[in-house]
Amino acid sequence: MSTLRFHAVKASLERKPLKIKENQRRSEIFGENVFNEVSMRQYLTKTALNSVLEAIEKGTKIDRIVADHISTGMKEWAITKGATHYTHWFQPLTGATAEKHDAFFETIGDGLAIEKLGGNQLVQQEPDASSFPNGGIRNTFEARGYTAWDPTSPAFIYDKTLCIPTVFVSYTGEALDYKTPLLRALQAVDNAAVAVCKYFDKNVKKVNASLGWEQEYFLIDSALATSRPDILLTGRTVFGHSPAKGQQLDDHYFGTIPGRAMSYMRDLEHQCMLLGIPVKTRHNEVAPNQFELAPIFEEANLAVDHNSLLMDVMKKIAERHNFTVLMHEKPFAGVNGSGKHNNWSLSTNTGVNLLSPGKTPMSNLQFLTFFINTIKAVQTHEELLRAAIASASNDHRLGANEAPPAIISVFIGKQLTNVLNELETVTKGKLSPKEKTDLKLNVVGKIPEILLDNTDRNRTSSFAFTGNKFEFRAVGSTANCAKPMTILNTIVAKQLMDFKIEVDELIEKKEMKKDDAIFNVLREYIKTSKAILFEGNGYSDDWEKEAEKRGLSNNKTTPEALKIKKAKSTIDLFESLGVMNSVESLARYEIEMEDYIHHMQIESRVIGDIARNHVVPTAVRYQNILIENVKGLKTIYGDQFKNYAKAQLGLIENISTHIEVIDSSVTEMTNERKISNKETTLESKADGYCYKVKPFFEDIRYHCDKLELMIDDGIWPLTKYRELLFTK
Ligand code: ADP
Ligand code: MG
Repeated sequence: MSTLRFHAVKASLERKPLKIKENQRRSEIFGENVFNEVSMRQYLTKTALNSVLEAIEKGTKIDRIVADHISTGMKEWAITKGATHYTHWFQPLTGATAEKHDAFFETIGDGLAIEKLGGNQLVQQEPDASSFPNGGIRNTFEARGYTAWDPTSPAFIYDKTLCIPTVFVSYTGEALDYKTPLLRALQAVDNAAVAVCKYFDKNVKKVNASLGWEQEYFLIDSALATSRPDILLTGRTVFGHSPAKGQQLDDHYFGTIPGRAMSYMRDLEHQCMLLGIPVKTRHNEVAPNQFELAPIFEEANLAVDHNSLLMDVMKKIAERHNFTVLMHEKPFAGVNGSGKHNNWSLSTNTGVNLLSPGKTPMSNLQFLTFFINTIKAVQTHEELLRAAIASASNDHRLGANEAPPAIISVFIGKQLTNVLNELETVTKGKLSPKEKTDLKLNVVGKIPEILLDNTDRNRTSSFAFTGNKFEFRAVGSTANCAKPMTILNTIVAKQLMDFKIEVDELIEKKEMKKDDAIFNVLREYIKTSKAILFEGNGYSDDWEKEAEKRGLSNNKTTPEALKIKKAKSTIDLFESLGVMNSVESLARYEIEMEDYIHHMQIESRVIGDIARNHVVPTAVRYQNILIENVKGLKTIYGDQFKNYAKAQLGLIENISTHIEVIDSSVTEMTNERKISNKETTLESKADGYCYKVKPFFEDIRYHCDKLELMIDDGIWPLTKYRELLFTK
């Protein structure tokens, strides 16, 4: 093993940055491989084009004859770009993207062939999908699902293949993917937000949710990364003592990007440009070899697709550069983990960001309405929002090294806190003209257009208002954004619907003016959602105690966090908004629980294997060297040998102690695993892994890491943290 380590170190030291040719402006190549409006105008008839555009804007259906025209145009365009195959591209519940390639090529008899893509092939496909997780939706004898074209996310060419974004549903109509519920949630928030917007502007016809994600990741030399069995199999290091230097000097954050990483980023960004992913920002993150990439925000469904595609592209491009991209939330203990902040806002077809303060008191009242309703939605459904980001890998990150804790709270900044405090004192019932004028001029009217106070750098807040958007920071770096986005947009939709009902009731039954009614409802919301607002330090024990007093959930583990997903209230919520029926909700709960169990099982096996088969044998080897040494000293010094062998004897004993604990812990862990595997319900299995198996991870690690410090570096088998983190 140690030979592999030194081979890897040697290989990594010989690498040079790849030269990246960039002779075109980014604006020129942007979207070159996307069947966007520009290419559609070139390749589609007017009817076909209008039909696609209408489907995007209004969600109308595309008829089959038009679909034939569209598919032909799409194929012609794809062939000019060198594509030979097409695939329906979708996001099954594995979390990865899936594709099954078919050639355009078709024979037509007499030894002749043509290139073809029919309307039917564009619109619907039946991949053999029996081995995608489905959480019991499809019986195995009926393991069929089909993919259906999503015209709102444009087709693109990747690796000479025309990729057509699709949803993935079962024959009985249940969603088997992440995209279908997301599209339904986006529709729900659109309807609910438009209805509320009408209080302020009758011209609003559509509200889009926007998403701007920030992808954090580690770049590790591929030889080094693959020399570690744990990275290879789990995406993280399950062992490894912290290096003498970690991130304490803060010399990596926003520092000069190292040459190889820079060349990787340029290459990656070039691909992103071709694929129409509008990446804009890149920088070093806090931990060594950690980086971040962020695009310009987009409509949420498109942004979700782009992030899924990006994660794929990142891995592919990395191969060329001899890097392994670690997307895991916590690849290294002791330094920062990786998140994927989801920046979210709502904007109207009239070009107004509903979460951005405006110039007039009226537009500010609209801003406050959406702002306060979002807070209220998070307050009501904080536990569900926590469940949205629950995963085995994110459990390692939440609450550690600058990551937000498992408690969901909302940060809004000083200025807006003051505004809410003032609004809370608004008179109950009808407002006097003076009070109203006063409110409009001095409270609502004084919300500054730009909220400088909100450039908050306190990353311990899980859901922060940052001036013109909310930033959901608890999302993990491996997550498919569709999950948090589906839940966030659903709860906001539900909240806005409730708000509309309450305001209308005051207007109709209490004969209040619209503004009075809005102020009255908002005042009550401010009162009832105070518990979720928190501006302090999220790591402190005080906050945990305080949060408990406030009745906020603090679900530290995934099995605990996921429980709310099968609660009746949750199932009813999704059902009532048409986002998921109960079968779909429960299927996702099951899949996520199973996913947790599988991850824990793999990690536990890897830990057992490395500890027993790599660490202990190396420790024994080193102990034998020491024993030989002591024996030698005894031949030279006779009875006096102990004077010269003190350290060695101490080490020999120490090593034995660690080996003993490691060995017995691995045995106990394996037993617990066996017990857990025999459990008959998902809950008891997951709990077994979480509370009986997992605690051994840290114990075993502790002793292995101690041995790392004792044993001759020359024979240590596991590539060390300093090599993984500081090789550039
Ligand atoms: P940081 O959070 O690192 O300070 P920014 O706040 O500038 O960086 O932007 C982070 C992400 O937020 C980017 O992807 C950006 O496009 C996105 N973003 C900016 N405005 C909005 C908005 N109104 N809605 C959604 N995302 C937005
Ligand atoms: Mg940010």
